[in-house]
Amino acid sequence: DVVLSDNLIKSKAIIINNENGIHLRPAAKLIDFTKKQKESIFIEKNNVKVSLQSVSSILKLAISYKDVIFLYAKNNIILQDLENLINSFQEEKYEVYLQSKNNLDSSKFFYGVVSSNGMAKGTLVKKEIIKFNFKKECYDYLIEVENFQNAISNVNNNINALISKKNNNHDYIDILHSQLSILNDPIIISDTIDLIKKDNSAAFAYQNIIYKNCEDFANSKNKIILDRQSDLKEVCYLVLKSLNAISLEDLKFNTPTILFSEEITVNDIINLDSSVVGLISVHGGTTSHVSILARLKSIPLLINVNSKLADAKNEGIIILDCNDGFVNIFPTQEELTVVDKYILDKVNINSKYLEDSLTPTKTIDGLEVKIFANINNSSEVEYLESSFIDGIGLLRTEFLYQNRKYFPTIEEQIEVYKSIGKSNNNRLYNIRLLDLGGDKHLDCLSQETETNPALGVRGIRYCLIHNNLLYDQIYSIVKANIYNVQIMIPMVTFIEEYEEVKFILNKVQEELNNKQHIKLGIMVEVPSAAIMIDIFAAKADFLSIGTNDLTQYLLAIDRENNQLASKFSHLHPSIIRVIKNIVLNTTKYNKPLSVCGLMSGDKYGVIILVGLGIVNLSMPTNNILEIKSFIRKLNYLDCANAVEICVNLLSADEVLHYLKSKFSNLMK
Ligand code: PEP
Ligand code: MG
Repeated sequence: DVVLSDNLIKSKAIIINNENGIHLRPAAKLIDFTKKQKESIFIEKNNVKVSLQSVSSILKLAISYKDVIFLYAKNNIILQDLENLINSFQEEKYEVYLQSKNNLDSSKFFYGVVSSNGMAKGTLVKKEIIKFNFKKECYDYLIEVENFQNAISNVNNNINALISKKNNNHDYIDILHSQLSILNDPIIISDTIDLIKKDNSAAFAYQNIIYKNCEDFANSKNKIILDRQSDLKEVCYLVLKSLNAISLEDLKFNTPTILFSEEITVNDIINLDSSVVGLISVHGGTTSHVSILARLKSIPLLINVNSKLADAKNEGIIILDCNDGFVNIFPTQEELTVVDKYILDKVNINSKYLEDSLTPTKTIDGLEVKIFANINNSSEVEYLESSFIDGIGLLRTEFLYQNRKYFPTIEEQIEVYKSIGKSNNNRLYNIRLLDLGGDKHLDCLSQETETNPALGVRGIRYCLIHNNLLYDQIYSIVKANIYNVQIMIPMVTFIEEYEEVKFILNKVQEELNNKQHIKLGIMVEVPSAAIMIDIFAAKADFLSIGTNDLTQYLLAIDRENNQLASKFSHLHPSIIRVIKNIVLNTTKYNKPLSVCGLMSGDKYGVIILVGLGIVNLSMPTNNILEIKSFIRKLNYLDCANAVEICVNLLSADEVLHYLKSKFSNLMK
């Protein structure tokens, strides 16, 4: 690292490995980090250096996948933390950006790009473009600056109020945070004030500066950054609204409505009337926040549709088909029937799932499979309250330590464990000790750079080196004093690791005079544990197979490696053989065995696991209804026979092919 004259150190070259580059949400996180440091930090690309304070400046760099950047900060710790933060930007995988078929438009069909799937029918309503009503000039710029500052603070309050609402989805909260980063961008604010001081009205000045920034983004080749223009405009509308400079229509409807607009805004979706069944817009991008929210709300959204749709002369029902990407403005009776059937099927599937979800899950031949949830953060507990499942099979506790500079206190941990326990309502509650490392980085913990992080100081290895952290976590769990709680150790490789944690648990229980039998179990996800499973099964109170890491280590494929992604499969016969060995060697010890990797949430994986006689499956909450319903269609004996064939096949592809041919009728 080179020391610069202004006392800042320049980092080594950092390659951006996040496919979507540094777009709005990552930029907002960098700004948050910088704020906490209270130091100036810069980021540089192609010799252009900007401060990590202004979101618009960062976005203008259009930092994209595989770009090389440098960071400048006061010390190496900050540089390292920032580099870790940049490496941790894990994005949802965006769908491929389809070309709009605008040139095929006819008087009946208008084509567009699908941004959120589904089908809908309803009356087409055009949302008028926002009307601006403000003067260009102002007469007292001091008052106008004050008005502007008040508007910014009002909008800050409104967004913060939305953020602090309970039960909000994480993606949604991230979107609101990124709106805050635009709203509080110091450069946008100071440019606006400069323009107001030249006797322009606050509304005019702000709109001008925002639009100027949008123009800069419009030149970007990075599609994700292009899409951010709508985020800037969105914030602009909020500020102008607070300045009483625009009138926004209140959209209320009585019948099923398909809303068409030049531009649908995040605000539109947040306040959407429940009669709106579909959305169409001229502008927008598949990666825009509007699209993310539409998908979260399961509302079909078609974008890049020709604005001529506004002239459509049909006052009756139209069809929005976001499976194939078109609007049909003069549907025939038959075409409408297809949509009716689609909607009805969906309702039936959902109510069937719901019905299934209320009773225990058994195969046709009577094998009961217990279903547990993998919970990754507090906002997912909502799911626990409403469904018939057997409890939490895996609480990933990393969220407690994420996005913060300091460890959570014991009090804080106790409160979180307790409140999740309350929603879980005395069902089995399996808390996994902090599983840091490999693909999981945390701001509040220092980690040395390792050549091979997946094989480095991760999981329980880290906890045992930093045993204050481990002690505090175990202390908090015991002190929370929750019925049916058990503790699970991640990444166990050596039996001594189990003994050491057991020792700490005993000590904590003694200290707290806690006589509960708190079960201590292990994740089976490292080959040594899988192979010497009899030794571990004899000691541990329960075992849970982590098929994600087990696959990674058995196939020697990094679970994050894009180039090898098609080879990374838990259906490889080697994995099936190893799991079979685990089952054989744990049965005699009569210890509960479960699977909590993604194999449990995958139908083909489930056939294998049930066939192997594994009757405890823990999976992501959004797979639960479908998997419960799927298990009810299975025969245990068919699955067991399939396993016998699969263990002798040669590849994951062969296994998949075989399962597809044998179980095709159940896959619909
Ligand atoms: C696993 O490895 O399968 C697992 C469940 O843990 P994680 O994905 O959190 O590493
Ligand atoms: Mg794991």
